Amino acid sequence: MKKALITGYRGQDGAYLSRFLLEKGYQVYGADIPGDAGAWRLRELGIEGKVKEVPLDLMDEPGIRAALESVQPDEIYNFAAQSFVLTSFAQPVLTSEINAVGVARLLESIRRTCPGARFFQASTAELFGSTGSAQKNETTDFYPRSPYAVSKLYAHWITVNYRQAQKMYACNGILFNHESPLRGEQFVTRKIAAAVARISRGLQETVAVGNLDALRDWGYAKEYVEGMWSMLQQPEPDDYILATGRTHPVREFITAAFASAGMELRWRGAGLEEKGVDAATGKVRVEISEEFYRPADVKELVGDAAKARRVLGWEPKTKFDELTRIMVEAELDRLDGKKVRL
Ligand code: GDP
Repeated sequence: MKKALITGYRGQDGAYLSRFLLEKGYQVYGADIPGDAGAWRLRELGIEGKVKEVPLDLMDEPGIRAALESVQPDEIYNFAAQSFVLTSFAQPVLTSEINAVGVARLLESIRRTCPGARFFQASTAELFGSTGSAQKNETTDFYPRSPYAVSKLYAHWITVNYRQAQKMYACNGILFNHESPLRGEQFVTRKIAAAVARISRGLQETVAVGNLDALRDWGYAKEYVEGMWSMLQQPEPDDYILATGRTHPVREFITAAFASAGMELRWRGAGLEEKGVDAATGKVRVEISEEFYRPADVKELVGDAAKARRVLGWEPKTKFDELTRIMVEAELDRLDGKKVRL
């Protein structure tokens, strides 16, 4: 029985990957700071109690070593991070301690305790930042635009360096935005899906958002974790982009989310005065608030996953409209106390 250790296992990707690996017969160890933040994801997936919990904090190197020594994992997936881009502008040092130096602590601990283990780093499309609107591939230059992205840039290269210098099996999955009903509510897709469900049931009047013009390549997280696992099953370690190759503005996600709940949204005005109005009632449902703008935002992200398709046989299946529908329906099911389709 293979052993996998997943840091940040109560987050969206960690939870989906835990279920996927349990179904494959792995023994799954969930490593995280103690507490029950995110435990609802394991409950909704029906895998609560099936993941063995191991306390692990990326700030604490002796603790990481002790965890690795006791588990002796075959595969390690690192999702633990300060993952909010906006928060990273307010807390750049903490973000770097966890997302950048934390990965060095983890890799060095692996080298000293279980150097044969295979390592996956959750790298990010945010690395591409301001490199224009063309599709990104594994050879595109990086130009990070936030303390979050800068910290992840270090994590990306230290992973490459351990692969090259220490000959460790270490891979980066350069993940474009991937969403699901298990996404945290701080991210725009889940925030919108949850608001749309409450608005359609009369439980909320409006939702305030930031930059409607940002373009993102949104895929379904459930499919992305399968690609991550595949990266660790290859004869040689390498880095791969996971993306859908299609991009949509935030505004379009919002319109599609309302449509999934049977509401037609029309946009009026511009800039901070732009509003999303319910065509049937004339009520304002979406407003803009400066609070959700970033000091520097990434205008457009779209990825080319041809290498993952060619080498891993990985392909995203769920399209934008379907993903939006899945997320809104999940929120309606939650409001109705029904089991969510995950
Ligand atoms: P990210 O791409 O990892 O930062 O994922 P997010 O879902 O947090 O943000 C995606 C894009 O949506 C960014 O360009 C944000 O500026 C934009 N956006 C617009 N309104 C909001 C909002 O209310 N919350 C968040 N999180 N993002 C927003």
